[in-house]
Amino acid sequence: MKFNKRKFVKILGFSAIALLFPIKAILAATKKIINPNLSKEQKNVMFNEGTERPFTSDLLKEKRKGFYHCANCGNKLFASTSKFDSGTGWPSFSEALPGAFKTKLDKSFGMERVEYHCAKCGVHHGHVFKDGPKESGKRFCNNGLCLIFKPE
Ligand SMILES: [Zn+2]
Repeated sequence: MKFNKRKFVKILGFSAIALLFPIKAILAATKKIINPNLSKEQKNVMFNEGTERPFTSDLLKEKRKGFYHCANCGNKLFASTSKFDSGTGWPSFSEALPGAFKTKLDKSFGMERVEYHCAKCGVHHGHVFKDGPKESGKRFCNNGLCLIFKPE
């Protein structure tokens, strides 16, 4: 009898958490670590929607021709031709490769921003804004920690 009661409370507690954070729970279920060598900082950005400190990414200076891939699953995300210097301190791109990302509305910090995540593995990469300088008008503000550059 005692055991059953405790079990019931446990189930009840879990359901309450699932009801309170249904989106987080679903997202957490779809994201998984594919690259076992991810650092603590990379995991924080990718799995907790963290943001790296601006002007810390080596990729800001990257000007070679090539492609930017997801650091977790290797999915090809951006071509170097879409990269531009936004001055924000994060690697910025005017366009993503077709089907590279999925987006969702992020209402954290009292702002409405469009968050995007890798279409293949689900990890967070950054936010996309509508103030880009090129024809697309888009600015993909990407955490450098989530990217791996492969020169052509
Ligand atoms: Zn990925």
